[in-house]
Amino acid sequence: MPFDPIASPTVRTTPNLEPAFVHEADREAARARIAEYTARRGKRPNFLVVLMDDVGWGDFGCYGGGVAVGAPTPNIDRLARQGLLLTSCYSEPSCSPSRATLLTGRVPNRHGLHRPPMYGEPGGLQGEITIAELLSNAGYVTQAVGKWHVGENLASQPQNVGFDDFYGFLSVSDMYSEWRDPHFFPEMVYSEARTEWIKNMPFNKCFVHATRGGEPENVEEVTIPVLSLLDDKWCTYSQQFIQRMAGEAKPWLLYHGTRGAHFDNYPKEEFLGASPAKHPYKDTLVELDDVVRRLVDTLRETDQLEDTLIFISSDNGPHMETWPDAAYTPFRCAKGSTWEGGVRVPGIFAWPGVIEADRQSDGLFDFNDILPTFLGLAGASASIPTDRYIDGVDQSSFLLAPGGLSNRKYHYYWLVDTFSGVRTGEYKFLLNATSDDPGDAAGPGGFTGVTQHFTYARLYNLYLDPKETHNYMTRKLAYIEAFQAGVRNHLATFRVYPPKRVLGQPPPAVPAS
Ligand code: CA
Repeated sequence: MPFDPIASPTVRTTPNLEPAFVHEADREAARARIAEYTARRGKRPNFLVVLMDDVGWGDFGCYGGGVAVGAPTPNIDRLARQGLLLTSCYSEPSCSPSRATLLTGRVPNRHGLHRPPMYGEPGGLQGEITIAELLSNAGYVTQAVGKWHVGENLASQPQNVGFDDFYGFLSVSDMYSEWRDPHFFPEMVYSEARTEWIKNMPFNKCFVHATRGGEPENVEEVTIPVLSLLDDKWCTYSQQFIQRMAGEAKPWLLYHGTRGAHFDNYPKEEFLGASPAKHPYKDTLVELDDVVRRLVDTLRETDQLEDTLIFISSDNGPHMETWPDAAYTPFRCAKGSTWEGGVRVPGIFAWPGVIEADRQSDGLFDFNDILPTFLGLAGASASIPTDRYIDGVDQSSFLLAPGGLSNRKYHYYWLVDTFSGVRTGEYKFLLNATSDDPGDAAGPGGFTGVTQHFTYARLYNLYLDPKETHNYMTRKLAYIEAFQAGVRNHLATFRVYPPKRVLGQPPPAVPAS
């Protein structure tokens, strides 16, 4: 039977691993590519992840944005033409859930970061096994640079969850600015009492440097002038790491989280007005495009470009409640929601000489696929944990085989700790979702709505209706078992592997007596 993402079955190899499609011809082609690479270069691949913040699916030129929306991204577009551009790459609805999912290969209801920790709130990656730790065990040098935001407590910091070295801030951009910027926060900035009150909160006001197992050392306080320099400083640090690694026998993982383009944006002076839009968000995108240029140039100059799998993405959809410090998604709703606008993000893979150039695919790719895929490419699949459920699937044959197909059948949407829905093929089956009634907010915000439970499941055909406005369920009941089986099997895994929560619940509206 010819392959079809809805009609074809998956294979479950181990009880704790997500079932996946096995495409034998793709596997063979991928193995041949890896063998050819290893014979030619004599080493295992490096991994460079550039994770941007709140950048929309459509912001880059190669996704239909760029020049058309006043912020050209020629370097990112060029990289996309040299590799594989994914149109159905999925994050989680907000920063910390996405980042933890990328690092652990697990959905938020398993790693427990259902939402971002704020202002020094304890809880994070502590107790999880990350891709950095597994690659480190496999002989990789592991470096994290830039935004962390998956736990500020010591045990959750990068140097204690698998990274050899970390240079960046532990939280999120707005936590350093929203009590310092008099334009947005005059009642805070012009009040000595409130400024003191914030300063006494238990979060680190500095960006830090840390080495494996150690305490973090403060580098510099993150004032607004410093914020405007962070993407430059962090890029320089990553470039220096790449330069240093050129002389090393060991392969490496560099996890580079940019400051931009999370609200509020304060681009470096040389980028002020650099975009045709002349708005700080758009100027920041131009700056981020330049960060990609610098990192790729450094790889090329040190003869490591051919040895490095590059992944460029964003941790969630645009944050429309902070518009215009957010921009372009062609999809419904925004960051915070499980409508496509919240979770469908750009995804570019490039590895010159190994991944075929000029490819585009709508095959499903989930952030949790990074862990098993990188381990597969590093020849370390045997180290995938067996004591916990791993939601990611090894997508190395999808990435490396010419015309390769995705190994993932279902993408599962989670809205904090509520199961939201499932996508398979071009269909999305939705049980619960954020209300995005414009009456709820000034715009199509993702955090403002309420969680609505649909009386009957809704179904959207994302090819005919990418904005999810026409419920198609009644005309497509023949598919219902395919969706329900996906939901049933996914939820059943939580009976064997119970869910986890590491951040506190909001306080109850009425205190318990
Ligand atoms: Ca984000």
